[in-house]
Amino acid sequence: MSASNAGSSSSLYQTYARAELSFERGEGVWLIARDGRRYMDFAGGVAVSSLGHAHPHLVAALKEQADKLWHVSNLFQIPGQERLGERLTAVTFADRAFFTNSGAEALECAIKTARRYQYVSGHPERYGIITFEGAFHGRTLATIAAGGQAKYLEGFGPKVQGFDQVPFGDLDAVRAAITPETAAILIEPVQGEGGVRVVPPEFLRALRTICDENGLLLIFDEVQTGVGRTGTLYAYEACGAVPDILASAKGIGGGFPMGVCLATEEAAKGMTAGTHGTTYGGNPLAMAVGNAVLDVVLADGFLEHVRDTAILFKQSLASLADRYPDVIEEVRGTGLLIGLKAKVPNSLLVQELRANGLLAVMAGDNVVRLLPPLILTADEMREGMERIEAAVAELSPGAARKSA
Ligand SMILES: *Cc1c(COP(=O)(O)O)cnc(C)c1O
Repeated sequence: MSASNAGSSSSLYQTYARAELSFERGEGVWLIARDGRRYMDFAGGVAVSSLGHAHPHLVAALKEQADKLWHVSNLFQIPGQERLGERLTAVTFADRAFFTNSGAEALECAIKTARRYQYVSGHPERYGIITFEGAFHGRTLATIAAGGQAKYLEGFGPKVQGFDQVPFGDLDAVRAAITPETAAILIEPVQGEGGVRVVPPEFLRALRTICDENGLLLIFDEVQTGVGRTGTLYAYEACGAVPDILASAKGIGGGFPMGVCLATEEAAKGMTAGTHGTTYGGNPLAMAVGNAVLDVVLADGFLEHVRDTAILFKQSLASLADRYPDVIEEVRGTGLLIGLKAKVPNSLLVQELRANGLLAVMAGDNVVRLLPPLILTADEMREGMERIEAAVAELSPGAARKSA
C-alpha cells in the first residue's frame, strides 16, 4: 500500500500523502511513535516546533492560561496581544502587529496592508504585487496566486489578480515588471518550500532600493525563516535590508497555531478600524504561548546557541557531502534551515532517513530539508549526523549495498 492511498478508507479529505507513522508524544528533539520507536524530529512540524516538543516553559504557559480564559474575540482588549505586540515591535523594524492563526493569513494581511497603503496614499490604481518563481506563500486563493505555482492553482478557478511573477534572483526582470499599477514586492529571504534557496543579501538590498525609488512597499515572507530559524530573530536582520511589512508564523507559536503580520506605522496607516479582522487571531491561548516562545528565543545567548549549532551542523554536512557526492550534491541554507540537494530522489533520502530514525521534509528542487528544533544541542546534532550518515551511506552507489 503506498503512502498516498493508505488512507483511502478514511473519512478525511485525501489531500495529503501522509507517511504511515503516527506519534504518541514528544520530548525535546524526540518524537515517540505509537509502536515505541523514537525518532529525531528534524522535520520539526515543518519549521513549527521551534523549541522542540513539550517544552516545559510552553507547557506551563498554556496550562496556566487554559485554567483562566481561552477566548473573548477581538471585540475586547486582549492584554497578551498588547504585550506580544509590544515585544515584537520593540525588537523589530515594526510599529504595528496584527495577529492571525496561520502563515497564509499573515500573508493575506500583508497583501491587504500593502494595497490599502497605496489606496490611502492617493494611488488606488496600485494593487500589483511582484513575486518570485519558486515562491510559496500559502494555500488561500490569494496566496496561491502569489506563489504562482501551477500545481497549486490548477482547477481552482480564475487566479486572483494582481500578482506578477519574475524569475528568482533576476533584478532586471523586477525592474521590467514594475508598472504604474505595482504596489509592492513580496519575497521570502530564503525560499523554504522552493528548495532552501537563499536569496543573496545584496539582492534583498537592491529590492529595498527599487522599492524606495518607486514608492513600493517591501514585504518579507518570514513564515518559515522567522523566530530564530536562521540564527537571528528574523532573517532580514542579517541581510541589511529592512522590509515595510513582514509575515511571521510557524515557529512563533512553537506548535500552537498562530501568526502575525508586522508593519511600520506608515505601511499600516490604511488599516483603520473595520478594514480587517479575525475571530480567533490573537486569542489568549495563542498569546500566552507566543509570549512564552519569545521568553525563550530572546533569552541571553539563545540565538547565539542557534548560530553555533548551525555552523557545526553545516560543517558536518559539508564534510558528508564531500564524502558522498553521489548522494548529496550541495548543502544549502542559513541557520537551522538547511537543505540537502540530493543526487538521488529526495523522497528516497527522506525515506532512508526515517528508516534510520530521523525525520526530514522534502522541498522543491530535489532538496531534503532539515529543520531541527532550535534547542538542538551539539550532542543531539552529532547523534543526528550519525543517522544522516547511515542513511546517505545506504544510498551511495559507491558503498556496499545491503542487498547487493
Ligand atoms: C508555511 C508557509 C506559509 C503558509 O503558512 P500556513 O500556516 O501553512 O498558512 C507561507 N509562507 C511560507 C514561506 C511558508 O513556509
